[in-house]
Amino acid sequence: MEYLHKEELLTRQELNRLQQVRLKNTVFQCTKSSFYRNKLAYAGVRVGDINSVQEVQKLPFTTKEDLRSQYPYGLLTVPVDKLVRLHASSGTTGAPTVIVHTRNDLNTWADLVARCMHMVGVRDTDVFQNISGYGLFTGGLGIHYGAERLGCLTIPAGAGNSKRQIKLLKDFKVTVAHIIPSYALHLSTVFDEMGVDPKSLYLRILLIGAEPHTEEIRQRIEDIYGVKAYNSYGLSEMNGPGVAFECECQEGMHIWEDAYLPEIVDPETLEPVPEGEVGELVLTTLTREGMPIIRYRTKDLTRFIPGKCPCGREHRRIDRILGRSDDMIILKGVNIYPMQVEKVLMSMPEVGQNYLIELIKEGYLDQMRVKVEIREEYFVEDMRALKELQQKIAHKLKDEILITPRVELVESNSLPKTEGKAKRVVDLRGGK
Ligand code: AMP
Ligand code: ZN
Repeated sequence: MEYLHKEELLTRQELNRLQQVRLKNTVFQCTKSSFYRNKLAYAGVRVGDINSVQEVQKLPFTTKEDLRSQYPYGLLTVPVDKLVRLHASSGTTGAPTVIVHTRNDLNTWADLVARCMHMVGVRDTDVFQNISGYGLFTGGLGIHYGAERLGCLTIPAGAGNSKRQIKLLKDFKVTVAHIIPSYALHLSTVFDEMGVDPKSLYLRILLIGAEPHTEEIRQRIEDIYGVKAYNSYGLSEMNGPGVAFECECQEGMHIWEDAYLPEIVDPETLEPVPEGEVGELVLTTLTREGMPIIRYRTKDLTRFIPGKCPCGREHRRIDRILGRSDDMIILKGVNIYPMQVEKVLMSMPEVGQNYLIELIKEGYLDQMRVKVEIREEYFVEDMRALKELQQKIAHKLKDEILITPRVELVESNSLPKTEGKAKRVVDLRGGK
């Protein structure tokens, strides 16, 4: 196996030992912030009580609300003059969650991202285009510094301006790009408009992530661009990208356990779920200096994939994110995740590159309406054919989500698009 850092090769036992030491250091570092001092005192835990990785369970959880309550500078464990960068999470309600980094923190972060990219075959000979919003969003600078650390010729293309993106990809013979999956699909429709075949480019690898997406979306992206597309998971609170990443086996994402201590808990009881079962991912930073975070409740639902990865790395793997616990739709007593809808739609050849789930009221009843873009060649004038397609989609959805949604067929490229993370669900019920 070709590797970038020796940490990639650590055995379970070695990882465990390293995590044990780093967890204790992290708890100690946390005591330098009044927020954690109080939280630890309230939980009755001292640094000396944490002598094994399992003892992480004695520590209190940290939530997004905790971070917000400490806005703007409440969680620092170093003086402001030691900090060199600030990022904030993309949340649209309430105070943003702010994360700050020391120079060492940025160094470690760039290393982690470089490691992810190297793992899937990116090398210093590659020309890399970062098709991602820069600014407070971590997918810009986070990935950027990782790519430069690896030695790629890095193009900070930013988000949007699709025609220019395509021109850059073509003119500079870009071989690797980072792109949000929903935007990759949208960009493919612009390729069509411009009469350029994405396969005629030099691209060989895409890094896709930052938003939930199904295996069906990955397959589409790989087919359209003629590349391998690797799933990249991260969140601002844990730096951003570089937390977990697929290896070449594409059988789950390795969490870099020398930098993060992962747990998966039942979101109701907060107890660990049995190995292999789905629950909420909880992460503790193990190397962060300026703003360490203990047991952060990500709200992201996933599971540990049991067994060893064929690539040989022993850092545990998590499955594709099923969704966020706060994205779950409860309709007519049934729990539905948007990804279940996506899986059905994206497996159908008639369906175009975008969809939208709307929650509506019909009389007093809640109902789901799914707007589905249909590929041009299927968007015919024959009403009967369209009706049949509509019914076929509704039936397939019913098989997956157990209720029959209203299905509305719309023209290709007609649904609202975002340059950043896609908004898949809109609640139109009002009064909620
Ligand atoms: P932000 O901190 O604003 O970048 O948002 C982080 C959130 O984006 C995570 O908590 C996840 O909900 C989502 N996310 C990031 N990467 C992925 C991915 N590869 N798959 C699914 N969801 C992701
Ligand atoms: Zn692997």
